[in-house]
Amino acid sequence: MSAGSLAYLPLSSKLTALRGIGPAYATILAEAGFETVRDLLWSLPYRYVDRGSLLKIAELDRWHRPGGDREIVTVMGTLKDLRQSTTRVQRMNLTEALLEDASGVLRLVWFNQPYLGRLLKVGDRLLVFGALSLGRHGLEMRGPALEVMGRGNTPEEPWVQRYLPLYRKLGPITGRIRSRFVQDALGKVHAPDDWLPIELAKGLPDQISALRMLHQPPDEADARDLEARSTPAHVRLATEELFAFAMGVSLRRAGRMKRRGIVVPTNPELREKLRAFLPFHLTGAQRRAFKEIVEDLTSGRVMHRLLQGDVGSGKTLVAFLAMAMVAETSGQAALLAPTEVLARQHATTFARLLGEEASRMQLLLGPMKAAEKREALARIARGEARYIIGTHAIFQEAVSFDRLQLVVVDEQHRFGVKQRESLKEKGMDPHWLVMSATPIPRSLALAVFGDLEQSVLDELPPGRQPIDTRLLEPDAAERAWDAVARELAKGHQAYVVSPAIDPMDEAKVPLRDIQAMEALLRARFPEVPLEVVHGRLKADEMAIRMGRFVSGEVKILLATTVIEVGVDVANATVMVVDHAERFGLSQLHQLRGRVGRGSARSHFLMISGAETERLRALVETQDGFRIAQKDLELRGPGEFFGTRQSGIPQFQVADLLRDRKLLGTCRDVAETTLARGLSEGQLVWLRQEQARLKLAEIS
Ligand code: ADP
Ligand code: MG
Repeated sequence: MSAGSLAYLPLSSKLTALRGIGPAYATILAEAGFETVRDLLWSLPYRYVDRGSLLKIAELDRWHRPGGDREIVTVMGTLKDLRQSTTRVQRMNLTEALLEDASGVLRLVWFNQPYLGRLLKVGDRLLVFGALSLGRHGLEMRGPALEVMGRGNTPEEPWVQRYLPLYRKLGPITGRIRSRFVQDALGKVHAPDDWLPIELAKGLPDQISALRMLHQPPDEADARDLEARSTPAHVRLATEELFAFAMGVSLRRAGRMKRRGIVVPTNPELREKLRAFLPFHLTGAQRRAFKEIVEDLTSGRVMHRLLQGDVGSGKTLVAFLAMAMVAETSGQAALLAPTEVLARQHATTFARLLGEEASRMQLLLGPMKAAEKREALARIARGEARYIIGTHAIFQEAVSFDRLQLVVVDEQHRFGVKQRESLKEKGMDPHWLVMSATPIPRSLALAVFGDLEQSVLDELPPGRQPIDTRLLEPDAAERAWDAVARELAKGHQAYVVSPAIDPMDEAKVPLRDIQAMEALLRARFPEVPLEVVHGRLKADEMAIRMGRFVSGEVKILLATTVIEVGVDVANATVMVVDHAERFGLSQLHQLRGRVGRGSARSHFLMISGAETERLRALVETQDGFRIAQKDLELRGPGEFFGTRQSGIPQFQVADLLRDRKLLGTCRDVAETTLARGLSEGQLVWLRQEQARLKLAEIS
């Protein structure tokens, strides 16, 4: 039988087609997100052990560098002794073991991993990797990672190649068993037709060869490239993912371009009217962004635009103008805010801007009284309400509009595709303007919002002074309270932010929670009206408390990060953040953006025992785009947005940060591919890839 005839399994086959996978395993695998052979093969080893780098236990002392960079070393041996106990002082579970190879014996120690007592047995063949430490009994490894390679008399895993790929376990399916499934699959799959355009595929292995190279690396592969995921095989798979993603984006965009959008009429009187609403001159950036929006609204296509800009760059005013374009001519415009506090704040801003015409605005909130809500909904349905402001949540309920022509989504990176679809089902296809909460680095914006046009506010309104930013050791916290006292004495207001602390969180350092902070502030500022807000408050109670701060009645607002986004109180000139190291970089920048909104000099004081790179970056720059880039580099794209809702595709091999140039190329090729037209086969491939990457959920 030739090798070719053995290969009969399409990548899309169910996993039960593999040897050893019955319904029980298939269920476990499905829960972990593995449905098809494709899913299994695309999930790469988390590590490769290079047999050439295996060390003998007797030579380990050469690898121990006290104080220096602790290098991870790998050894293989037989488990000789295993015992568990509880330490006297801290009552921790202690697992101690001895590992023996032909050259010597090494002590292994783990803390609080009692399950190891169940997992391991004397006589097991173990592969362990970790850093070396010098303990009382000599050289030892503390908390090493391990793989059980063989047990009792079972013959050792055949390890004929230089590299041994290691896989994460999936429930009861150990890395070893999983590896067998992968090897079985690799022997059976056949190469699908190659749909990657030649411009991208040039010089790279085909998909199946790439998968083989990564699950059975050839001996001549470079260990460092494998580790860094930069072999040609990796590049091939990353290209495959990024191209599928870019195609999806281009297709969606092309689809939108074909839809006929409402043409918003414009004339000199309208322009005059809008100008009359404005309390100040637009910044150059605001003017540019508005011009781009006007072009969209009058183009006959459906607008789908991202407006992004640094904190305080004046996105709200641009949104207002866009809404006024529609509301003052032919239709209705809705503004959706993430919280009620922000919805109310926008309503106040709009009422001020609209002046005598404020009755054309309608606020719509969840906890409104039934009669009030009915009236609000009626005003919207009849078309009397032209400017409609509410929370994202409320628009998921049934609201019927008279002529909804524009939706503005504030402070949200992604707004549900479902809501948009449901509007379309109701026969509405309004224009969309999405405003992002934090500046997004270019590389990521392209990836996440590639299907949107973008306007950037890269300029702050005139008269803004840089915010005096300082990092204080906990011992020097008194200086923060002095700064608060000074600002209060000038008639200004202050924010104090405490991290939301989970009581279960067993941190090594004592943390001051919001109650302790409240006690401290009340003792330090006994006469000053203070209000506390946090995430567990009911929405209406939150609104009342925030309202008192906005009106100036309350002078100190103590909050968890619920105030992070969007709150606009120009009289607040100082913010103190406790345990600043507990916050993300972009989050701190957002928080800082709550002060410095007026013309008075403002202060941002971070109390932290740990001077990290993140905190220093904040002291060094106030440019939100640079901070965002730094944050992205430090935390990676997934963490950067922080939420499930972020819309970041879950790539297995591609890395948006590292592969941003490749993504750019893929986008270009996607455009030309689309212009040439897609074949049936390409469409099938695309659908499969998009299902694997769960791209369908991304709008
Ligand atoms: P963000 O972009 O963070 O949402 P906002 O829209 O809340 O910023 O605007 C920040 C502050 O700047 C507000 O107090 C707003 O009134 C003010 N502002 C906006 N545009 C201008 C402008 N062109 N000139 C002066 N102040 C402005
Ligand atoms: Mg805002």
